[in-house]
Amino acid sequence: MNSRSLPQGLPRRIATLSVHTSPLHQPGTGDAGGMNVYIVEVSKRLAKAGIEIEIFTRTTGGDLPPRAELAPGVTVRHISAGPYEGLAKEDLPAQLCAFTHGVLGIEAARPPGHYDLLASHYWLSGQVGWLAKDRWGVPLVHTAHTLAKVKNLQLAEGDRAEPMGRVVGEEQVVEQSDRLVANTPTEARELIDLYRAPLERVAVVAPGVDLERFRPGDRAAARARLGLPQHAKIMAFVGRIQPLKAPDVLIRALAELRDPDAIALIVGGPSGSGLDRPTSLIDLAESLGVRDRVRFLPPQAGDRLADVYRAADLVAVPSHNESFGLVALEAQACGTPVVAAAVGGLVTAVRDEVSGVLVDGHGAADWARVLDRLLAEPGRREELAAGAVKHAYDFSWDHTTTRLLDVYREAMTEHRSRRQLELAGCARW
Ligand code: UDP
Repeated sequence: MNSRSLPQGLPRRIATLSVHTSPLHQPGTGDAGGMNVYIVEVSKRLAKAGIEIEIFTRTTGGDLPPRAELAPGVTVRHISAGPYEGLAKEDLPAQLCAFTHGVLGIEAARPPGHYDLLASHYWLSGQVGWLAKDRWGVPLVHTAHTLAKVKNLQLAEGDRAEPMGRVVGEEQVVEQSDRLVANTPTEARELIDLYRAPLERVAVVAPGVDLERFRPGDRAAARARLGLPQHAKIMAFVGRIQPLKAPDVLIRALAELRDPDAIALIVGGPSGSGLDRPTSLIDLAESLGVRDRVRFLPPQAGDRLADVYRAADLVAVPSHNESFGLVALEAQACGTPVVAAAVGGLVTAVRDEVSGVLVDGHGAADWARVLDRLLAEPGRREELAAGAVKHAYDFSWDHTTTRLLDVYREAMTEHRSRRQLELAGCARW
């Protein structure tokens, strides 16, 4: 389908804003994670539906071209805003003016009305979207991915509270957005209760999973490909290594397990602050006397990541908070039960006692009890594995994209009517 054959009311061109992390980055380290995967998967599908997508992101290397093709119909635009290296995510609010200048400059060189809609991801992008939306006269659809007020309620030990500047910045974005996309009903409630988002502007759109890549496969073969032992019971953690994700909970639980054959496999790279280096996990494992039972792998991509999930007997997601938790879904799609903290989106991503087990709190003894029980009962693991595959099939990026198209259509229709009223001098937004 090309943009001329798009159904009425849909945007022809979308400017997607992803200030702090590029869809070209490898997820699982630094600031790259689920949001990057989300933007890539959805953009590819929107482009297939005939919508041109341009993704604006900050330049983080001198070798990056001003524009790069991510997929047919999806272009990444690198915007200069501050030095390539040395800026943390927390430093980026000071670069928003430069970034916005770059985005507005690109649009100004185009014929008027080039973009029909702005899709912003994370609050930094929402701030840019706020200004661009006013200048271009188009609706802003914002996806928060994480919320400071929620994070501050569930801080991990050693984690820093999110600053007031972010809280206020998010409140402004919530106020200015035409639609707010929430991953789960829980996140929708948080937007409404904590950020006073108007109910009618919040849309719940579940993220998806790539069911072609993440599918069940032979465990022994996956272990052989990754060089992992055949006879161990493997509990995997996959994700950015940071306090919020709590990989330490898995290592602490490992130290309390009765099963001597259990090992923890930690896959991912450093991110953020505090417990951010694999070395601090190595120190922890050493201090607990389980160093020889903890394996590390750097961030994995594509089929190797699917192999990680297949190789594991269980995947642990002990996060203090997750707005969704794509790792949980990917693991289940590969037929591996998930043991997850009963927080945020994980309560939706995992069906308790059907596709995995939800654990209250982060105490090592509680986690060890659940893990021990599952490791000792292969029959139960098999039941959960079957439930996991079934549950994952309820989610797909095609579904996500179809729902997003509805949200875009609503936002465009409403925005157009409001502008007509404004032009007629009848109403103000
Ligand atoms: N990921 C990856 N390689 C890794 C670790 C993680 O590609 O080694 C990806 C993973 O497939 C998932 C994303 O990073 O899609 C993490 O998303 P999630 O929602 O679990 O957490 P977030 O990073 O958004 O907090």
